[in-house]
Amino acid sequence: MPAKPEPGNRLSAYPWREIVINCHVCNRHAQVAKERLLKTYGDLALADLALRIAADRSCPRAKAEGYCGARMLTAGVETWACLEEAMHGGWIAMLHCNRHIEALKRGSACRKPFELYVPTLVALLGWDFPLARLPYKVTCPGCGSRSFFIEWHVPERGAGALAGPR
Ligand SMILES: [Zn+2]
Ligand SMILES: [Zn+2]
Repeated sequence: MPAKPEPGNRLSAYPWREIVINCHVCNRHAQVAKERLLKTYGDLALADLALRIAADRSCPRAKAEGYCGARMLTAGVETWACLEEAMHGGWIAMLHCNRHIEALKRGSACRKPFELYVPTLVALLGWDFPLARLPYKVTCPGCGSRSFFIEWHVPERGAGALAGPR
């Protein structure tokens, strides 16, 4: 996954709309809109931001010791993006068939993954269709199964290149 949040980078340099904060010490995980964080905390370095958020969400360590395991992580694109981002970013969707784990059904999974052609998805579902809902709209092209997962390949690009038309 590209756009990996570097702890030293400022939040404004992070290209996606949503970012994850995760702390393995206090066992917290939250996905937050970047705009909201910018408004609340300003444009901090990601490492400092993670600590501030952890302290605000009452992580005892972050409060008392100024340290906890909080880190900013990339939010999976399928959790927040729409077909628009996929189209503009040249993302590739691969459907991996999982038929073999379907309960009570024999037969093996389709061996090769199928590419779901993004412009066709846009033509059928519209720009603003959320990637998260795609699994409810498609079936495996090889066998018709609804057991599959969709993997998104996001090409590496600079943050500037991602500012598509809005
Ligand atoms: Zn913590
Ligand atoms: Zn299949």
